[in-house]
Amino acid sequence: MDWRIPLADLDYGPEEEQAVLGVLRSRWLTMGAVTQHFEQAFAEFVGARHAIAVSNATAGLHLACLTLDLKPDDEVILPALTFVATAAAVRYVGAIPIFADIQSETDLTISPASIEQRITPRTKAIIVMHYGGYACDMPAIEKIAQKHNLALIEDAAHAPGAALDGRKMGVWGDAGVFSFFSNKNLSTGEGGMLVTNNDALAEKVRCLRSHAMTSLTWDRHRGHAWSYDVTDLGYNYRPSEIISALGLVQLQKLEKNNQRRRELTACYHRLLEEKCPVVTLPFRLHCGVSACHILPVLLPEQVERARFMASMKSNGIQTSIHYPPVSDFSFYCASSFGQGVLPLTRHVASREVTLPMYPTLTLKDVEIVVAAVGRALNESLKVS
Ligand SMILES: *Cc1c(COP(=O)(O)O)cnc(C)c1O
Repeated sequence: MDWRIPLADLDYGPEEEQAVLGVLRSRWLTMGAVTQHFEQAFAEFVGARHAIAVSNATAGLHLACLTLDLKPDDEVILPALTFVATAAAVRYVGAIPIFADIQSETDLTISPASIEQRITPRTKAIIVMHYGGYACDMPAIEKIAQKHNLALIEDAAHAPGAALDGRKMGVWGDAGVFSFFSNKNLSTGEGGMLVTNNDALAEKVRCLRSHAMTSLTWDRHRGHAWSYDVTDLGYNYRPSEIISALGLVQLQKLEKNNQRRRELTACYHRLLEEKCPVVTLPFRLHCGVSACHILPVLLPEQVERARFMASMKSNGIQTSIHYPPVSDFSFYCASSFGQGVLPLTRHVASREVTLPMYPTLTLKDVEIVVAAVGRALNESLKVS
């Protein structure tokens, strides 16, 4: 489909092309010096002691669960209003996802009160997800984790560069995981990064990322080793040098692009408030620094979402839904994992629509989208 205004778009140019060519010409394609540079630059950017590049964020979440020692039948509390990977990582280690509700219609992040209600003697960890790049209430969640001695993982896939109380997201928990999937703020197609301030955890993650081998192909190439031992059940979760080279360039653009996303978000909010006051605007009054990854709105009850989205599509504007609750997916509700009443999640998930958001969007585009939202609202009223 050729959208007039797509949901997301890349900010790629000659710098990315040059970076890829540089790797091709270096004749070293997999995890090596470029990945090391990317890791150092990313660690510095978020203010973490360690950043470990991985093949994607799902792999990073899996490594976080493994290295925080989550075991079969341990309970892990997480939001249902997230991408399925957050919950899949919990299942990879055999632990049980326990879904908590969100804060409110205007703050779609996990509710600390709902987390506390779900704590049992079997609870071992909390995974938060900074929805849309908006920080969860980390001061409250950190306190709960400390009080109950729980591991804390941040799914920061939406939140590179977001901050709360002057501290970047990803470095609040024991481990934070970022995604560099095509449609994310820092995009390399596939890719991810795990950050942590814990030296022992970082060492375990590095080890498991590459088959738990005591030396890498890279070390042997440089003549530092000629054989190896395998000390654990490891994985191949390595990134390629091409991915890391793209990541380095994209990291340099991230602050500027996040700032652009904030301007566009403010413009959307101003125009929607003025022209479409029946639409609810989550995070309108967010107090942290957001990465503004997506632009979620909630349609009023009397509007039929499918028709609204079809109307936007007929104007060449792509929209999406973030998210169908994970607890409703057949894999999760057929097992006992989907249990739990999540009234706010359900209410929001049935009304949420995501509008186009990317740094190369223009203010004129935002006006076009908002005008189309106004028309689509009128065209999709439910017949009562
Ligand atoms: C994109 C995303 C992931 C998965 O990232 P991959 O890099 O594609 O594995 C995990 N959690 C959330 C919230 C995401 O948006």
